[in-house]
This record gives sequence, structure tokens and C-alpha cells, in this order.
Amino acid sequence: MSDFKGKSVMVLGGSRGIGAAIVRHFAAAGAKVRFSYMGSAEAAAAIATETGAEAVQADSADRDAVIAAVAAAGPLDIMVINAGVAMMGDPATLDPDAVDRLIDINVRAPYHAAVEASRKMPDNGRIIIIGSVNGDRVPWPGTTAYSLSKSAVQGIGRGLARDFGARGITVNVVQPGPVDTDMNPATGPMARHMHSAMAIKRHARADEIAALVMFLASPAAAMITGTTQTIDGGIGI
Ligand code: NDP
Repeated sequence: MSDFKGKSVMVLGGSRGIGAAIVRHFAAAGAKVRFSYMGSAEAAAAIATETGAEAVQADSADRDAVIAAVAAAGPLDIMVINAGVAMMGDPATLDPDAVDRLIDINVRAPYHAAVEASRKMPDNGRIIIIGSVNGDRVPWPGTTAYSLSKSAVQGIGRGLARDFGARGITVNVVQPGPVDTDMNPATGPMARHMHSAMAIKRHARADEIAALVMFLASPAAAMITGTTQTIDGGIGI
């Protein structure tokens, strides 16, 4: 594992699942880590105690709260935008307010967090957004809102990679397939259906996603920017 000693890292959405694994990985590698959470105060406190990271409550649906949380973190070497929500269902019957909230959390927050982080980020910094394989492929009906949000972050990643490239700042989108978390448990009702479309027929572990994030954040990945890095066990190939 690369050495991140002395690096300042912020993870948006670090209380559970993939975000918690990313917090653990960076803390174990010596970084100074701060993370946001919204509803899971107890889980956030437990991760903070376990890792020494600092937990800050900030609702990703609230633009001002996101910008304030990122600004308060001071200069960040690495910004990881992980907080996200999923929603499935017939678009004709989904609550439009819930769809708009999903877009706030999954699209607006990544944009504003990345831009705010860039203001004080030193040269050669890293911005990593957790997207989804659904940004590229939609193997099942009922995922339009989620898929559109994950396609949108691809545009954020490519655009900001151009905007910040002169400073050596890389911007990439990590696109998991099924990962065993509260959002998508490996024992859930959709699991077998998902596995049937995969070359490697299992959910990924959150730490497998964190390992890819760590690589993209490392000096070895300095020339990787504006990309989508899919880590999905070959779903729908
Ligand atoms: P979980 O539901 O397990 O965890 C979600 C995390 O995001 C929690 O830490 C949660 O914090 C935080 N979060 C959610 N809403 C908000 C909010 N409004 N404000 C601040 N934080 C928030 O999800 P995963 O770990 O599975 O997912 C993480 C990311 O990975 C998401 O972007 C998701 O779309 C993506 N992804 C997940 C896949 C999977 O199969 N699991 C597949 C592909 C992509 P809190 O509980 O404190 O509110």
C-alpha cells in the first residue's frame, strides 16, 4: 500500500459501506482523514473512534452544507466523493421529490464538492468520484434516476480533469458493480439476478473498491485522469 503519511483526505459519505472502507484504508496508510455523514451518527462515531478520522455531519442534499464542510477541511490533497443514494422503480410512479433529492446528492454534491476542494488543493492533488457501472450500462428496468446520476458524474470527471489538468490534479470516476453494503446486500433479493449477468459471480467487497481508490490517489496514477474505472466483476460484458 502507498504511503499517505501527511496527506489530507476528505471522504464525502464515510460512515458506512464503501465510504467507511475508504476511510479505513487512508487512515491505515497514515493520512489525516475527515469524512462526512448524514443519518448514521452512531456508525460515524464508531469509524472515527476506530480510525482517528474526524466525522462531520453534512447533508449532501444541501449544497451550502457540502461546500462549507469541504471548505472547513482546509487544503485537501485528496477528495473522495462517495455519498450516494439509490432508488429503483417505475419512473411513472416514483416520487418526483425523491428523484430530485437523489440528483442533489448524487450529482450536484459531487460537482460542488469537487470544485470547492479544488480551490485550495495543491498541485498533483486527486479528486475521485464513486459512480457506478450503471453510468455506462442499464441491465435492468427501474434504474433511470440512479443511472442518469451516475452518467452525469462521468461528465463532471471528464470536464474537471480538463479544468484542473494544468495543476497536475487528476479527476477520475470509479464505477463499481454490485458491492456488498447496506445499499445492495450480497444476500438481497436481486443478488442472484445480478450475479447471473457477471463474469465473476459475486458481490465485490467494499475494501476491493477502496483499494482501487487508493491506487488512483497514489503517485503511480499521476497520468490517469478523466477516466472511468469500472470494477464490476464483468457485469453485462
Ligand atoms: P451505503 O448506503 O451502504 O452507504 C452510503 C453512504 O453515503 C453512507 O455513509 C451515508 O451516510 C452516505 N450518504 C447517503 N446520503 C447522504 C447524504 N444525504 N449526506 C451525506 N452522506 C450521505 O452505500 P454504498 O456504500 O453501497 O454506496 C457508496 C457509493 O457507491 C454510492 O455513491 C453508490 O451509488 C455507489 N455504488 C454502490 C454500489 C453497490 O452495489 N453497493 C454499486 C455501484 C455504486 P449516512 O448513513 O450517515 O447518511
